[in-house]
Amino acid sequence: MLDVLRCPYCGGRFDLVTSMFHRREGDEIRDAILGCHCCIFPIVAGIPVLHLRPDATAARDQVEAGEPDRALRTMAGLEDGSQAARFEAAVLSAAATYKDIVEALGPNFEGGYFLYRFSDPTYVVAHALVRAVAGTVLHGNRRAVDVCGGSGHLTRSLMDLSKPAPVIADLYFAKAWLARRFVAPGCEAVCCDGNAPLPFARGSFGLAMCSDAFQYIWTKRQFVGEMERLVDPGGAAGGEEGAVVINHTHNQLAWSPSHGQPLSPAGYRDLFESIEPRVFGEARLLEDVVASGSLDLSRRDPDTTLDADPALTIVATRHAGVYRAHQLTTSSPASPSLPLGVFRINPLYHTERDGRRLRLHLRFPSADYEDEYGACRLYLPDETEVDLAAWEALASGAPAAGDLADLIRRRVILDLPRNYY
Ligand SMILES: [Zn+2]
Repeated sequence: MLDVLRCPYCGGRFDLVTSMFHRREGDEIRDAILGCHCCIFPIVAGIPVLHLRPDATAARDQVEAGEPDRALRTMAGLEDGSQAARFEAAVLSAAATYKDIVEALGPNFEGGYFLYRFSDPTYVVAHALVRAVAGTVLHGNRRAVDVCGGSGHLTRSLMDLSKPAPVIADLYFAKAWLARRFVAPGCEAVCCDGNAPLPFARGSFGLAMCSDAFQYIWTKRQFVGEMERLVDPGGAAGGEEGAVVINHTHNQLAWSPSHGQPLSPAGYRDLFESIEPRVFGEARLLEDVVASGSLDLSRRDPDTTLDADPALTIVATRHAGVYRAHQLTTSSPASPSLPLGVFRINPLYHTERDGRRLRLHLRFPSADYEDEYGACRLYLPDETEVDLAAWEALASGAPAAGDLADLIRRRVILDLPRNYY
């Protein structure tokens, strides 16, 4: 990954500073110092930290002093001793789950809804959309970057499509760390600031995406310019057109919870200087996915539709294959060819055993959840049942067929990362 990294401030390549503390694990640099023309930055637990906020400079000093474990604690944002002890115990335990580590990071770290992330409507649309676009522009031999990717839920959607492995970039170190350990094992991670130039070389990627975060970026014009630069085919050998995708950004013209600082659809369009974008209303994309299992990117939503939709999706590409109807692919990390996940019953269901069947009842964790994500009722039935023998066969690795394939498609049965909760 060092080949595609560039300093966000001077644009220079990085070298490993071998005169300073460094630690390897196989062919991976685990903890070390990188130097460019202007500065030095730490690598902590395999993740380059390419910004200069106070936590990053403190962690750099700690790596330089030969204390990488303290640097990890600093970057995870753990200040009090008991929290740090809990975190470290969880980090070292092979049996620890994503949920254990999120809890060890404390109540301010992440909202309580991550358990349900893989069936919420925002995810369902974004997953379908990025797989359609990535399948077209990457065709299995180009790389993708998920900017502001959080703990990697959508990075995971790219694992079988991006080669080399996708890169996740986020300002919150602990989230990028969780992505690598649990949600999208095998991805590369970088800790960097979305309000600064992005730390990658021009043309390094076939797909640059950002989901459910763009409304919180203040330097939107710079950010879009950077996303265009990352997929600029002029910057890569044998350059082929790439794509920029911004999923689920809020709309200035329609209120939504956690509104951020969104623009109007016209405002978003004006950010793009080198590639003409298309803006889609998320509600219609969700209808597509639920109703037909396909996604029609040839449509042009009228302004009245866009202006009224609280969430928008933006695609910008010159690739001729993107703006057409896409049949959604069913391959998933839990499928036998990609054993990165496990099938579990969606935790939104209360499960009751009744002889050789499981009876499932949909129960939302709170009224707030139902308010924000209630559109999941479009595909999650109030009640359903599963044949116990078929379920046990699926859980032990048999391919999904018949009713079970339908329940997977409807997200009653989820393909989850191993050790998620
Ligand atoms: Zn520099």
